[in-house]
Amino acid sequence: MKRRQFISTASIATLAGVTGVSSRALASPEYRWKMVTTWPKNFPGLGTGANYLATLINEMSGGRIQVKVYGAKELVGALEVFDAVSRGTAEMGHGAAYYWKGKSRAAQFFSAVPFGLTAQEMNAWLYHGEGMTLWEEVYEPFGLVPGAAGNTGVQMAGWFNREINSVADLQGLKMRIPGLGGEVLKRAGGVPVLLPGGEIFSSLQSGAIDATEWVGPYNDLAFGLHKAAKYYYYPGWHEPGTTLECFINKKALESLPNDLQYIVRMALRVANQDMLADLTAKNHRALEQLVNVHKVQVKRLPDDVLGRLRTLSDEVVAEEAAQDPLTKKVFDSYLNFRDQVVPWHRISEQAYMNARSPG
Ligand code: CA
Repeated sequence: MKRRQFISTASIATLAGVTGVSSRALASPEYRWKMVTTWPKNFPGLGTGANYLATLINEMSGGRIQVKVYGAKELVGALEVFDAVSRGTAEMGHGAAYYWKGKSRAAQFFSAVPFGLTAQEMNAWLYHGEGMTLWEEVYEPFGLVPGAAGNTGVQMAGWFNREINSVADLQGLKMRIPGLGGEVLKRAGGVPVLLPGGEIFSSLQSGAIDATEWVGPYNDLAFGLHKAAKYYYYPGWHEPGTTLECFINKKALESLPNDLQYIVRMALRVANQDMLADLTAKNHRALEQLVNVHKVQVKRLPDDVLGRLRTLSDEVVAEEAAQDPLTKKVFDSYLNFRDQVVPWHRISEQAYMNARSPG
């Protein structure tokens, strides 16, 4: 028995040496968890963010929890992730809360709201405002514990095959833009189109759509969108700091001893911050490449267009919030926070950025 144990320990050590995997990760874990994701496996930024979170939990727990990540369709479909974790098929799910609007309208406020909070403000509302408590209330009926697991920062307005010089240019504009942003475009006279990521490029290239939004330079370059449209507009008024999420099956989380629960929660905090840093570093390099190598024309949406979109966004978001009491409660908290943080950020972040690079 002792000899067998010795041999198995020795072979684990050998294997670890060969593969470079730490031997403790090969020790038998106390908890084997599955993380299902709405992203294709290893998808830049989002899928890799999910991988990083799993690695953090594995390493921080000293191998006591082992999380295995599944790409979309590997275990369940991209939009089945919420239900799968709710019923316990997997312990964790990685996605974005606006995908679950059909489950709870209030969920949308925990991903992105047009003309809403930036990444920095969103984290402040979640961790040091009422955000996290409200999010927990919204996911409670589904047996899920939510957590922020990354942020894209301010996105780009998108890729356009025609110039936008005035509000009139939005008339009849066929654009791939999901969620509340799409509803706003519709009110401005445009035609929002829903398309999965994989069909965006061909639709833009064939002229089936005139424009599309995706994320920012890093993700957009990876998709090759610069080969299908001439103009790259900013700023991403519709997604000013999209929060990605990781929700956990409540029973599974509560079955962990306290130290492991704490490790899972802290791993989420680290992953949340890391994605923003990762995308910020990669976005500016990708932008340079788009402009200098691919000669993309980067343009700002005109003030009157942004003004019109802002007015319509306020209407759309308020109407959405009026649909049910829980959404209204979340909306009121979100909006109060925005109203309070704006005067401060006007004389801090905004004033500094303007001073550093005027115009
Ligand atoms: Ca987007």
